[in-house]
Order: sequence, then C-alpha cells, then structure tokens
Amino acid sequence: MKQQRHPLLAPLPGTARAVESFHFGPQGAGKIYIQASLHADEIPGMLVAWYLKQRLNELEQAGRLQKEIVLVPVANPIGLEQVLMDTPLGRYELESGENFNRWFVDLSEQVGDEIEASLGDDAQSNARLIREALSRALQAQQPTTQLQSLRLTLQRLACEAEMVLDLHCDFEAVEHLYTTPEAWPQVEPLARYLGSQANLLATDSGGQSFDECFSLVWHKLKLRFGERFAIPQGSFSVTIELRGQVDVNHALASRDAQAVISYLEHYGAIDSTPMEQPELLYPATPLAGVEPISTPVGGILVFCCVPGEYLEAGQLVAEIIDPLTDQVTPVHNEKPGLLYARSLRRMATAGMVVARIAGAQAYRSGYLLSP
Ligand SMILES: [Zn+2]
Repeated sequence: MKQQRHPLLAPLPGTARAVESFHFGPQGAGKIYIQASLHADEIPGMLVAWYLKQRLNELEQAGRLQKEIVLVPVANPIGLEQVLMDTPLGRYELESGENFNRWFVDLSEQVGDEIEASLGDDAQSNARLIREALSRALQAQQPTTQLQSLRLTLQRLACEAEMVLDLHCDFEAVEHLYTTPEAWPQVEPLARYLGSQANLLATDSGGQSFDECFSLVWHKLKLRFGERFAIPQGSFSVTIELRGQVDVNHALASRDAQAVISYLEHYGAIDSTPMEQPELLYPATPLAGVEPISTPVGGILVFCCVPGEYLEAGQLVAEIIDPLTDQVTPVHNEKPGLLYARSLRRMATAGMVVARIAGAQAYRSGYLLSP
C-alpha cells in the first residue's frame, strides 16, 4: 500500500488541508478508483472504505490484486470540518453555497480537439490517447479557490480509472445506486452483491457530478468521433447510496465492503472465484422516472410509509399537520414505484421534497438531480 498526500489550495494562511489517497496493486494493468464521503455528512461510505483498506492491504500482500485500486476514504476534508452549532453541513460549501458534488470540469471538447488528428481504428490505442489527454488537460487546470482545488484533485486521481465508485448515502433510504444506461449491464452484478433496491439510470442528469464527469467525456467523444473512429466507453462510474445518514455500523459496513470486494472479484480486479450473484431486488429504472414527492404546505411531517415500500399510484405517503389550525394535509404519490428515500426532517417547509419514488416510466427531463 502506498499513501499519497495531495495538498489543497489553502483559502487562508494557516488553514491548509490535503486529500489522502491509498494505492494498492500493480500499476499499468488498469485502474479502479473508489472514494467516500464527497458529501462530507454522509459517513456510511467512510466506514466501508476503512473496511476496504484492510481487505485491499491483505489482498495486495497475498499478491491477488490484478489492477491498481485507488482508495480515498475522506474525499472532502473541507466539508468534514463544516460543523455549525452541533450540526454537520457537508453537502454544500459554506463559502460559495455550491454542492460539493456538482460542476466538476468538463474537458471533453478540449480533449477531442487535442486527439482528433491522432485517432485511428484501434479502440485500445484511442482509449490510451483519451486517458493521457484528459490527464494532461486536468493537470493544466489552475484552481483559484479551495473548492475548485478539491474537485480538481479528485478528478485528477480518478481520470484514468476504468471504474469509478463514489460512496454516498441519502437521508433515510434503502441502498440504491446511480449509473448510466450504457454501463448498466456491467453494473448489474454490483447491484446484486450490494442488494441495491433502486437502480437509477441517466446518461447526463445535468449537474456535472463526479460520477458523470468521467462517463460523459467518453460519451461525448463517441458522439463526436464514433462514426469515424473506434471510441470505446473507457470509463464507467457508479454512485452508491449506502442507505441513510445514520446507518453507520459494523454489520452494514462490513457487508457492503464484502459486496464491493465480490464485485471486484467478478470484474477480474482480484484474483479469485467470485461469489454467486444474489438476485436483483428491483429492476433498473430511469432517473427521469423518479417522482420527487413534495408538500404544498408546511407543518409537522408524519410519514405513513418507510423506505423500501412499493407504492401504487395515489397512496398516502405522509401527513403534514399544522398544530395551530389543526389542518391535516395528506401527501400522495402520483406514480407507482418503490419509495427508496425520504427526508430526515420532521418539520416540512412548503414546497419541500419529502420522499422519492423510483417509477418505471420516464416523464421528467432537463436537470434531474436534487440541488
Ligand atoms: Zn451524497
């Protein structure tokens, strides 16, 4: 195991932070990148990463790693320190108000311009050209803020990876994941090992999030050059939502770490016979089919169903109670689907999304993520 330290741009004198990465396995035979807690108040992945660190170390010493595996257990030291009046605030940077997991830089056009004259008929050598050009383009970027410096550091660490796993969690939720329709056949075994209950697919959900900043480069280059040259999908990414924010315990984390290890065995990154795949708990559905259920009024939020329940259209999801007027406002879902996540708050604000349902039919378009 090799440990590397990547200093971030210090926003103020005396406040320097760094991202630490841990590298396992042989270099040059393919790379897998795993990070945890980019949203710094989402800790389940950090504990899974801690389990993975021990396991990968053992596997490396046993000579069983077939590819390089890069692990970043604390992907967001800036957000981790944002604790305000006893409340961790790790989703948005307090300085800018920006979501930490948005606006990773899109360099696909620049990479395309740079490699166009060198592309040929061999998919492998085109893939190598793209990886090298992307890496160079990221190295040339000059961050001017600490937040940009964090995003660039993570992007540089992961840009050459063929597989990117980004460990997050929701507020209160069952295990679920996000990936692209193109990657789903490769990702499905991971969903089985994890026991993922909602598998949400989108090619471009509009926020330039960490997972999409890699898959989209290849997707866009394929759209631009695919008719003339062999452009493979050289990288796929998965955002894994490890249940809810308080689901941090040894039983779940060791189980999830084992699921990731089983998937890496299945993928061929670890030399061993992979475990048999469990059944898929819920089919993949379009991210554009997710129904965000919002309340039209504010009040005490009393849920009438739990994450993991399948709802028919028009079921009672929650009641919003105004203790001054005694008005009770029922909140229903419009579409059928699996309720996979709900809010942690119990005082709802008018217009707030209280829960999300994975429906089978795409009906939304444009920006598909939460803020
Ligand atoms: Zn997150």
